Amino acid sequence: MMSAMLQLALGIPAIAGMLWIFVSGMAAPRTKKLAIFGMVPAGCAFGALLWSAINPEVELVARFAASLAAIAGGAAHAVWVSTLALPRQRVWLRLLFVPMGLWAGATLSLWFVLPTRGAILEVCLLLLLSATVTSWVLLPWYGRRPKVIALGARKLPCVRFACPRCGTRVDWAQGIFACTDCGLFLHVDWPAHEREDRPAQVLAERSVRFACPGCGKPREWKRGEDQCEGCGLKVELHWNEHVRKPAAEEPARKP
Ligand SMILES: [Zn+2]
Ligand SMILES: [Zn+2]
Repeated sequence: MMSAMLQLALGIPAIAGMLWIFVSGMAAPRTKKLAIFGMVPAGCAFGALLWSAINPEVELVARFAASLAAIAGGAAHAVWVSTLALPRQRVWLRLLFVPMGLWAGATLSLWFVLPTRGAILEVCLLLLLSATVTSWVLLPWYGRRPKVIALGARKLPCVRFACPRCGTRVDWAQGIFACTDCGLFLHVDWPAHEREDRPAQVLAERSVRFACPGCGKPREWKRGEDQCEGCGLKVELHWNEHVRKPAAEEPARKP
């Protein structure tokens, strides 16, 4: 049996890492619910871990803590895979690795709490876990930051930031580019062309964060036109937002 100190030394950083993924996942609309759901087993696992450190003689509490942490781990994996940047031709990998990680977490959780473990469960667990761990190496490698994005014969510079609609991280090519996951069309261009016929629009209510294409310093860019304080580069940034009307404004249906 693992000593209480070792359990804490492994458990606390693991749970802290999961919580960090959940907090960042809450900012992305597509993973918000899953991130909130994942915090429940993560919080309970932390409580059970502390309880087990105080009462190391009760073996069931340690198993319970590990089981809850496995569920939370599956959810954290799903949040991470859903929002990580992937090139358009690899986006389908999410459909494979999100459910696989959730199943790996659930199976591992079962393995921790069951008093006797059958061979079938252990084989399934081994397959699911090895696929999940492989994805931790494979996906960041596929999602490494490209220098340019090839669109037909053209090679365009790009900037990486979370999609304002779904929250997935996307490498947006200069010009008009669609989100790899939700298809939102976004226009990002630099240097912004000065137009005399139209005053510079600043739609200050939304902003995104990415490194300045001029000087490389990360900063918040406002929707509309914005300028880097460091190098003075002007960046144009536009996207459409479909604002839902409140229900009261819709015409009442007649029976
Ligand atoms: Zn999107
Ligand atoms: Zn700059």
